Amino acid sequence: MEKIKMTTPLVEMDGDEMTRILWQMIKDELLLPFVDLKTEYYDLGLACRNETDDQVTVDSANATKKYGVAVKCATITPNAARMSEYHLKEMWKSPNGTIRAILDGTVFRTPIKVKGIEPCVKNWELPITIARHAYGDVYKNVEIKVPGPGKAELVFTAKDGTQIKETVFDFEGPGIIQGQHNVEASIESFARSCFNYALDQKQELWFATKDTISKKYDHTFKDIFQEIFDAEYKEKFDAAGITYFYTLIDDAVARVMKSKGGFIWACKNYDGDVMSDMISSAFGSLAMMTSVLVSPEGFYEYEAAHGTVQRHYYKHLEGEETSTNSVATIFAWTGALRKRGEMDGLADLTAFADRLEQACIKTIESGKMTKDLALITELDQPTVLSSEGFIKEIRKELERSYQ
Ligand code: NAP
Ligand code: MG
Repeated sequence: MEKIKMTTPLVEMDGDEMTRILWQMIKDELLLPFVDLKTEYYDLGLACRNETDDQVTVDSANATKKYGVAVKCATITPNAARMSEYHLKEMWKSPNGTIRAILDGTVFRTPIKVKGIEPCVKNWELPITIARHAYGDVYKNVEIKVPGPGKAELVFTAKDGTQIKETVFDFEGPGIIQGQHNVEASIESFARSCFNYALDQKQELWFATKDTISKKYDHTFKDIFQEIFDAEYKEKFDAAGITYFYTLIDDAVARVMKSKGGFIWACKNYDGDVMSDMISSAFGSLAMMTSVLVSPEGFYEYEAAHGTVQRHYYKHLEGEETSTNSVATIFAWTGALRKRGEMDGLADLTAFADRLEQACIKTIESGKMTKDLALITELDQPTVLSSEGFIKEIRKELERSYQ
C-alpha cells in the first residue's frame, strides 16, 4: 500500500512518562507504516520544558495558531516531588493551562463506546460530551482565611476611581471568604465554541448554571449564551435540526441521568471538572475518553483525557511488563488526522482516521484488551494484553481493513 499523503503538518506535542512510551509505539506501529506523516515536533517532556524555561510550550501553542491542528501527549504538571525528581529550575505551570490561555478555548470530552464495556447508567445509549469552560471562577480565585470578627467587603474600583461596594459579611468570629471573577469576552468565546461544536457534531446543546441563586454571576453566563444564540446561531440550528436548551444545573443533572445520551452538555469551569469525571467513570474509564480543545478562532488541540500514568511508568523503568491502555492517545491522533484531512480535503487521511478508530474498537470487542478494561468488561474471559501487545493487535486489525 502506498503511504497516505499529508499537505500541512500537524503540531506534535510530545509528553512524559508512560504516555511518552505509548506515543512512540503508536507512531511506529500504527501511523508511520501507513501515513507519510508530516508533523512539526515540540518536545513538551518536562526535561525540555525545563531546559527552555518553558518556551517550548508557548512555541507549540503559537504553532497551533499557525497550522490549526495539534496533537498532544499527556504531560507532568510539576509539584514539589517533581522539583527534585527532575531537578527543575522552577515549578513550571501546567502546559495545558498555558496552551489554553494562549488559544482561549473550550475543552470537549467524549467517552469512547465499545460493546462489552457498558455504562453504569443503563439508559445511556449514546456518548455524552462535556464542554468545559476553561477560564476563571474558582480556578482563578482569591481567598482569605478570616482570623476573627470584622467586616468583609467586595469593592470594584473603575479606572476613573468610582467604586461599587457590597458587604460580603459581618463576621463575629473566624471564617473564610472567596473572590471569583470571569470576563465577558471569555464567556462569549465559550458560547461560540459550544454552538460551533454542536453544529459540527449535529448534536443538541444543553447549558446549565445556578442563575436562580447567582443572579448576576451565573445569570450573565445564561444571558450571554442566549444573546449569542438568538443573534448568530438560531437559524443555523434550525437548519441543522438541532436545539439549544438552557436549564438549572440541578435540573440538568437529573435529566442527564434519565437521558439516552447523544448530546453536548456545556458546563462552567468547576461543573465541567466534576461532571467530566462523573461521565467518564460512569461510561467505563478515563482511558476511554477523548478530549479536544477548540478555540473560538477554530484551532484544535487533541489529547487524551488521562495523565501520564506515572505508576505504570515506574514499573516499565524496572523492566516489568505494563498493560497501559493507549486508546485515548490513539484517538487524539485520529482526531487530529481527521481534522487535518477535512481541512485539507484529503479523503484518504480522513478515512484512515476512521479505520484506525474502528480497529481499536474491533480489537476490544473481540476480547483483546488492556488490564483496566478487562477488570470492567462484561465479555467472557477477555485476553489481557501488554501495552505493546495491545497496539500490535490493533495494527493487525488495521492491516485487515486495507486487505
Ligand atoms: P493518571 O496518569 O491519569 O493515572 C491515574 C491512574 O488511572 C493510573 O495510575 C491508572 O490506575 C489509571 N489510568 C489512567 N490512565 C490509564 C491508562 N491509559 N491505562 C490504564 N490505566 C490508566 O493520573 P496521575 O497518576 O494522578 O497523574 C500522573 C501525572 O499526569 C501527573 O504528573 C499529572 O500532573 C499528570 N496529568 C496530566 C494530564 C494532562 O496532560 N492532560 C492530566 C492529568 C494528569 P492504576 O495505577 O490503578 O492502574
Ligand atoms: Mg478533574
